Amino acid sequence: METRILQDIDRSYVWHPFTQMRDWESSDPLVIVRGEGSWLIDSDGRRWLDGVASIWTNVHGHCRAEINEAIKNQVDRLEHSTQLGLANDQAALLAKRLVEIVPPGLCKVFYSDNGSTAMEVGIKMAYQFWRHQGRPEKSRFISFKNAYHGDTVGCMSVGGIDLYHEVFRPLLFPTILSPAPYCYRCELSEERDSSKCGQPCLRELERLMEEYGDRLAGLVIEPLVQGAGGMIVQPQGFVRRLRELCDRYDVLMIADEVAVGFGRTGRMFACEHEGITPDIMALSKGITAGYLPLAATLATKRIYDAFLGDYGELKTFFHGHTFTGNPIACAAALASLDIFARENLLKQLPPKIDYLAERLVGIAELKHVGDVRQAGMIGGIELVREKGSGEPYPWEERIGVRVCMEARRYGLILRPLGNVIVVFPPLSISMEELKLLMDGIEASIRTVTG
Ligand code: PLP
Repeated sequence: METRILQDIDRSYVWHPFTQMRDWESSDPLVIVRGEGSWLIDSDGRRWLDGVASIWTNVHGHCRAEINEAIKNQVDRLEHSTQLGLANDQAALLAKRLVEIVPPGLCKVFYSDNGSTAMEVGIKMAYQFWRHQGRPEKSRFISFKNAYHGDTVGCMSVGGIDLYHEVFRPLLFPTILSPAPYCYRCELSEERDSSKCGQPCLRELERLMEEYGDRLAGLVIEPLVQGAGGMIVQPQGFVRRLRELCDRYDVLMIADEVAVGFGRTGRMFACEHEGITPDIMALSKGITAGYLPLAATLATKRIYDAFLGDYGELKTFFHGHTFTGNPIACAAALASLDIFARENLLKQLPPKIDYLAERLVGIAELKHVGDVRQAGMIGGIELVREKGSGEPYPWEERIGVRVCMEARRYGLILRPLGNVIVVFPPLSISMEELKLLMDGIEASIRTVTG
């Protein structure tokens, strides 16, 4: 079908997420119709490098033959069957595989279908856990400023991005908000170097844990990188310290690896960098290599066991989604894990990670780049109006959006987070493609910011 007609249909009928639809209606959106490796192909046949892995999901490239094949085979056998009262082979096999690769101690897999539900499940699990322990007063959550855990009411409650969450505040349950380890814009210290500042954010967290520990059910954290907050990378040792504090105050640690899981940080899971096991871990996005909606919330034996009892004791976890454990999605996830293993994918990442680091160092020199951040294959470039003071561009200037639109001239698809340009390619991106991506980003920043 002609592009013009597809655009008209989209503008007439689709309401896009996180989008001012008045702007959208007066634009000519790209209509993506195919994918191939790191590339998206639009309805006019133009090829675009997918610089944000289709919102941080794609792992092995688009239309990978092995995953396509696994999905086709599964569709021919069983498209869906419920997890309510039944098991299915793919969901069972995937649960076993996940438990084998996640940090040791996480031993049970509760399925749902997106990152928000994975976190919602984690929050509810933690809350109910303490009721079963006979400690219903442990019902509150610590979360972090700039955090993002999804858009459901529960996830927004533990979120900390005012732009997204403030309007809904009256709907949300109150949490205890701890300062984010956002070194570039630290609100507690003038010193930006975390090895020199004495980490007042951790001291404040400790104070909050001391004050509220008896009433705390859980601490919710995006380990290593706060994603939607602006790819804010935490100092080394930060997550380990959280684990220690959670242990000391008997608070469940809920790790949201929805964005950082499945190799993005250079290890399979971000928690591995800090050698810790959370009590609850949420996975989605990359779990199916970006193919299909699927999520998993993993829990330790301690948590799982607390829900065991006679039916009449009402210890059951009353939560579940219709498409929980969908076998097609699970088959895609199994095929993705096969590729990780067969290609020894994580071992191939260091040269790409090093190259990204090198390019970010160069970009950091640009006049309007205030900060660059990196964790493995994830990069963030924070644009500022005034480098010396770090004065941000006013949000109305939409500087991030302008850079990303300019990048289209270089054949790149990007999506900013406010004033932060995000680098989040498929892990399978080639060195040549990564060079194209970084060249285009650098040139676009130069053009737009002058
Ligand atoms: N948690 C994190 C860390 C995320 O980055 C996201 C989405 O970007 C979510 C949760 C929510 O996932 P979903 O959009 O699939 O609901």
